[in-house]
Amino acid sequence: MSTGEVILSAEGLKKYYPIRSGVLRRTVGHVKAVDGVSFDLRAGETLGIVGESGCGKSTLGRLLMRLEEPTAGTLNFDGVDMYAQRGAAMRKLRRDIQIVFQDPYTSLNPRKTVGDIIGEPFEIHPGVVPRGGRKARVRELLDLVGLSPEHINRYPHQFSGGQRQRIGIARGLALNPKVIICDEPVSALDVSVQAQVVNLMERLQDELGLAYVFIAHDLSVVRHISDRVGVMYLGRFAELGNEDEIYARPTHPYTQALLSAVPIPDPTQRHTREQIVLSGDVPSPANPPSGCRFHTRCWKAQEICSVEEPELDRRDDGREGHPSACHFAEAREVV
Ligand code: SF4
Repeated sequence: MSTGEVILSAEGLKKYYPIRSGVLRRTVGHVKAVDGVSFDLRAGETLGIVGESGCGKSTLGRLLMRLEEPTAGTLNFDGVDMYAQRGAAMRKLRRDIQIVFQDPYTSLNPRKTVGDIIGEPFEIHPGVVPRGGRKARVRELLDLVGLSPEHINRYPHQFSGGQRQRIGIARGLALNPKVIICDEPVSALDVSVQAQVVNLMERLQDELGLAYVFIAHDLSVVRHISDRVGVMYLGRFAELGNEDEIYARPTHPYTQALLSAVPIPDPTQRHTREQIVLSGDVPSPANPPSGCRFHTRCWKAQEICSVEEPELDRRDDGREGHPSACHFAEAREVV
């Protein structure tokens, strides 16, 4: 697969969790964690997914790994319908899509050596590396992520947070995947360490031609690594576009509000930013607002907004600009 070809394609993905009540545990409603998400991921690119906690981005990550079955929608990997695969065919697909988890402190088994942790995928997929070659491959992976191969027999507690996340990345790379789902991979790390891990991921992407879905709540981190960015609100994309479009000329009021709250490092420039303060809390995904689901907090809302849900159009009708789910989408420069 060459860079630029679509490798992962999601269409109308939904994940609803039933809400049960009463002695008979009857279903009385649904939490709509992911509610109609579509996108294409190209080989070698990074799609950043941002949003406040509870917007459905981690559930989306699990759907992309098929750690959850969808309520509706399709997911194609390299032209194969992932949700239709079973048994050996699904196991083979799992080699190509791996995940790096948020918390390097709890995602590594403290009783196993680093060598065992990184080599674990070879036990599940024994055909990838012959038994006799596994130790050498683990040493190679440690070197690839900037750790000393001599540390193969150490335990997770003997490493710093950043080093532990490197171990998690090495484990994710063990089976030579084509896509890595990165679920808040640097959120648990100190700011100074975050940049090192993001730089490592960028280098690995260049060297190995990986595609990333990079999930985070921090817009600055996502900007640094992403080619395109999807902004999620209550289970859907509010806006989806190239990194420069989203950060320099966002068109959805929600994106504009999020960006206006990103701290400006230079104190002399802070007065140049007009901060948009959103009213109220994020509504419950069990009962999303009618029409545009952002209308209860949007300062631009008009009558139509509470009645008609704006679609995230795909802009294949020759119109300029990137897709934005807003009746009144309009670019606004955020300093
Ligand atoms: Fe705001 Fe209306 Fe646009 Fe929704 S459709 S984001 S409520 S202006």
